[in-house]
Amino acid sequence: MGKFDGKVAIVTGGSRGIGRAIALELGSHGAKVAVNYHASAAAAEEVVAAIRAAGSDALAVQADVSDPEQVNALFKAVTDAFGKVDILVNNAGITRDNVIMMLKPDDFDVVIDTNLRSAWLCSKAASRGMMKQRSGRIINITSVVGIAGNGGQTNYAASKAGMIGLTKALAKEIASRGVTVNAVAPGFIASDMTAALSEDILKKAIEAIPLGRQGAPEDVAKAVAFLASDDAAYITGQVLVVDGGMVM
Ligand code: NAP
Repeated sequence: MGKFDGKVAIVTGGSRGIGRAIALELGSHGAKVAVNYHASAAAAEEVVAAIRAAGSDALAVQADVSDPEQVNALFKAVTDAFGKVDILVNNAGITRDNVIMMLKPDDFDVVIDTNLRSAWLCSKAASRGMMKQRSGRIINITSVVGIAGNGGQTNYAASKAGMIGLTKALAKEIASRGVTVNAVAPGFIASDMTAALSEDILKKAIEAIPLGRQGAPEDVAKAVAFLASDDAAYITGQVLVVDGGMVM
């Protein structure tokens, strides 16, 4: 028996990195998982195959989650295939880093749309069914940068701080219907997003982490699985920081 047997999860940006680890973690405990992706079809199909090999079911669904019509199509595909949505993980995200003088308005808009608008659109799409079934879990992947800020990431930090406000407002709005809304704030995690950093920046970042290592996507996935589980039934509107102690 898996702790997510009978549950249906959507993981946005489930093809790579942290989203991939979350999809595999939920799937390995029995959830049927919709693995959303934007461009990486082969990577998403690989995640689907791994979940099926572990004995559950999964489906890869292409959608740009910053687009309302594509979000509606994503939710239709998932409910057509699996009947409902119990767990939504708003994980899809991008960076477009530079100092504010060099950033263009488009660099702001695309990061806000991909990281924050997407979470709002998917939460809106998920809420209706969750409120009706009087149960559900929405988990937003924010960042320590949304709490502490970071030079060169004004657009990204604004999007991630926005996700924290969204988490708390929606948690208050739909708690009475049995739906919890929480956020997980990763620190410095090994993924494609951080792979481009120089040796020097990597070394300095690790020096600032009390636990002395970069996080793995699985470290974040375990925290998400906890918040998605029955064990977290009395937790809502919270931000769980998973950063090896970097920001405290
Ligand atoms: P990643 O390896 O770059 O993966 C990003 C994922 O988001 C991919 O699956 C990508 O899909 C998907 N995606 C991007 N734009 C999308 C769109 N418009 N519609 C649907 N999916 C889209 O990044 P990651 O490091 O795993 O980050 C995952 C989340 O954690 C992000 O929200 C990020 O901000 C957050 N985070 C990461 C770190 C870190 O240190 N890595 C720290 C704090 C927070 P495709 O594969 O199809 O492109």
